[in-house]
Amino acid sequence: MNDCLFCKIAGKKIPSMIVRETDEWVAFRDINPQAPTHVLVVPRKHVATVNDLDPATAGMLVEAGKSIAREEGLAERGYRLVLNCNAEAGQTVFHVHLHLLGGRTMKWPPG
Ligand code: AMP
Ligand code: ZN
Repeated sequence: MNDCLFCKIAGKKIPSMIVRETDEWVAFRDINPQAPTHVLVVPRKHVATVNDLDPATAGMLVEAGKSIAREEGLAERGYRLVLNCNAEAGQTVFHVHLHLLGGRTMKWPPG
């Protein structure tokens, strides 16, 4: 997608703080972090929302999030993986992204 922010980040047309990348996905630090660790994992292929997400890609994003959580020292402390879908959930970028949040105690219910 020509006009998609996260396609541009994945294609390195826009700079970001990349944490790790593979042929299938890119993980980078959120520009407005909501926790000491706040990483976004995106598939390289453009998928707009969770409603359009296939099981293999969904599993891949979760596996990437788990692996980065471990690298960030969060696996035993705890962390949150979040997928916001559409307006009421607060999705603002319409290229699917898994939020990895950690490094502080989280509250429930979320805001
Ligand atoms: P969501 O509200 O779930 O769509 O999340 C979008 C996230 O993308 C927000 O947490 C933003 O802070 C983050 N974001 C927006 N622009 C950038 C950018 N250029 N680099 C990194 N993160 C970004
Ligand atoms: Zn995209």
